[in-house]
Amino acid sequence: MGMANCERCGKLFVFLSIKLCPECREHEERCLRRAREILMREPNLSIIELAERLGEPLETVEKLLREKRLTLKRKEGVSLACEICGKPISEGRRCTSCDLRMRRIADEIAAEGRKESRESRESRESRESRESRERMHSLATIKKRGSASPGEGGEVGGR
Ligand SMILES: [Zn+2]
Ligand SMILES: [Zn+2]
Repeated sequence: MGMANCERCGKLFVFLSIKLCPECREHEERCLRRAREILMREPNLSIIELAERLGEPLETVEKLLREKRLTLKRKEGVSLACEICGKPISEGRRCTSCDLRMRRIADEIAAEGRKESRESRESRESRESRESRERMHSLATIKKRGSASPGEGGEVGGR
């Protein structure tokens, strides 16, 4: 188990998977609950208004939007950047086109992997059967040869 500095307050804590210490995680959960409550009453708040209502810095709300734990109806004022092309987005980590592209690439890789494993299996199988055929053929040749040369002489000489 590793230690890490809390992303929010900098305190050292036992690192699990979230970069926040237990207190800040608790705080974030509370913010999220409060933000959702506020948005239920006032669904058309902008990010700045929501941050003001929460009494939290804008980054807190941005983080929740980036993690898609919170969505805003009003997108203006939200300045998240797509982590691939840097285009401004209102929630999540990637813009729609980058997200689509990434998904397509992931699909292609998955499809390629499936195709490749099938192809290599097929070619291995055909190679193996060819090899075994060849082996049997050459075995038969050796046998024939082996029995033929002394057999011929033997048979001839025997009579
Ligand atoms: Zn902390
Ligand atoms: Zn993008």
